Amino acid sequence: MSLEDMKEKYEMVIGLEVHAQLKTNTKIFAPDGAEFGREPNTQTSAITLGMPGVLPVLNKEAVRMGILTGLALNSQIPNRCKFDRKQYFYPDLPKGYQISQFDEPICVGGWVQISNKKIGITRAHLEEDAGKLVHAGAAGLYGSSYSLVDLNRAGTPLLEIVSEPDMRSSDEAREYVEQLRNILRYIGVCDGNLEEGSMRADANVSVRIKGQKEFGTRAEIKNVNSFRALQRAIEYEFVRQTEILEEGGEVVQETRLWDDNSGTTSSMRGKEDAHDYRYFPEPDLMPLEISREWIEEIKKSMPELPGQKIERYMGLGLSEYDANVLVNQMDTALFFDEALKLGVNPKVASNFLSGEIAAYLKEEKTAINDTKLSVQNFAKLLKLLDKGTISNNIAKQLVVEILKTGEDAAELVEKKGLSVVSDTSALEEVARKIIEANPEQVAAYKGGRDKLFGFFVGQAMKETKGRANPKLLNEIIKKELEK
Ligand code: ADP
Ligand code: MG
Repeated sequence: MSLEDMKEKYEMVIGLEVHAQLKTNTKIFAPDGAEFGREPNTQTSAITLGMPGVLPVLNKEAVRMGILTGLALNSQIPNRCKFDRKQYFYPDLPKGYQISQFDEPICVGGWVQISNKKIGITRAHLEEDAGKLVHAGAAGLYGSSYSLVDLNRAGTPLLEIVSEPDMRSSDEAREYVEQLRNILRYIGVCDGNLEEGSMRADANVSVRIKGQKEFGTRAEIKNVNSFRALQRAIEYEFVRQTEILEEGGEVVQETRLWDDNSGTTSSMRGKEDAHDYRYFPEPDLMPLEISREWIEEIKKSMPELPGQKIERYMGLGLSEYDANVLVNQMDTALFFDEALKLGVNPKVASNFLSGEIAAYLKEEKTAINDTKLSVQNFAKLLKLLDKGTISNNIAKQLVVEILKTGEDAAELVEKKGLSVVSDTSALEEVARKIIEANPEQVAAYKGGRDKLFGFFVGQAMKETKGRANPKLLNEIIKKELEK
């Protein structure tokens, strides 16, 4: 069966579980640092190591971030939630259980808007992360002769955000994760870095014949750590499951592992049901009561969300596309906001940010805050452009130079003599020179090839190194050609 026929007959159903690492300074139940990339096993207190007799203490900041996220995702924040033990055996989980939330999570319900619909949020719950196994032996990854345990990550706060099975294509899944990531970044609770694992998405995928009401049996795909991997894994699962159904087989509920090199998923373990984990209320932590006052306080501190930003930018005259481009680069959008405060023209500023500046950042693999371009200097440059002191082309060249050197825009224009030439006699001289140098083109133009006009303007611009006042130059060339 061809892929086209499969998509004609079957529909995929996707629900995502996203683990967001919360950017707290310390761990969720212990005072050790939660910073990424430290020397292995240096952020490992007795609590993190699961020593007998230690007691977890809940990190208030993790709870605040959980509530803030819930409010941003349109969730309900019940006034009570509690923690539960979820039993596992993993070499990187010394306690033998994970403190998580089961039946009374911190956030209930909600939704995330993507371009064509709302994706429902089932719930979001707080939990602790496990450590990390480093398969270090000579043969590499799974053929490794030995593995090392790094417990720095153990006890790092996670918010697991569970979606409803509302997505119907890998594009929708991607868009959902992108929107969710944007929200988490703007509210300052998570870096949203899929590659580094500060945000991880598990994809639940099932397949059903179009028009069928019931969902098919799902497989949960782990180990997708880029947007490309997420989409490829979903597409692969769709084909794998469809082929099983077409052959009259049954899809088994299981956890599968994505392998980015081979582009396939393979069975990792049969899917456990909740009762297999023997959840029970964590006896070392009291149920948590969250006051309405605190929720209100957190609500008041909510920064502008990406969707609101896009609308505001469109209100300033930006196209929906341009507004999206800006908002998808948070640092650049915040830079833009600062520039607006200094009175720059929104459309012009947005063009520079999404054009020359974005190209430079991409090329240099850097972020705007790591360049030498200050908001003040950017605004200064745009004012020189706005006043007609410099041409658009010159401004575009200068912005790239300033990104690298940080030189003052006004001083640079002065030093390099880049201000616009609006001197009529100087431009007349240039026009005459160009006309004299190109007799054939002049003859053709006069013979009716109007399009050649642009050629003369181009030559004259070149001659003035882009500094000619374009309107004046056009007039003068026209006049000179009519002579
Ligand atoms: P578990 O921990 O057992 O994976 P969760 O409730 O945490 O269960 O997550 C289940 C996820 O699977 C949710 O995102 C949900 O939307 C999704 N899901 C449930 N049923 C299906 C299905 N038939 N097809 C695709 N996704 C599904
Ligand atoms: Mg799950």
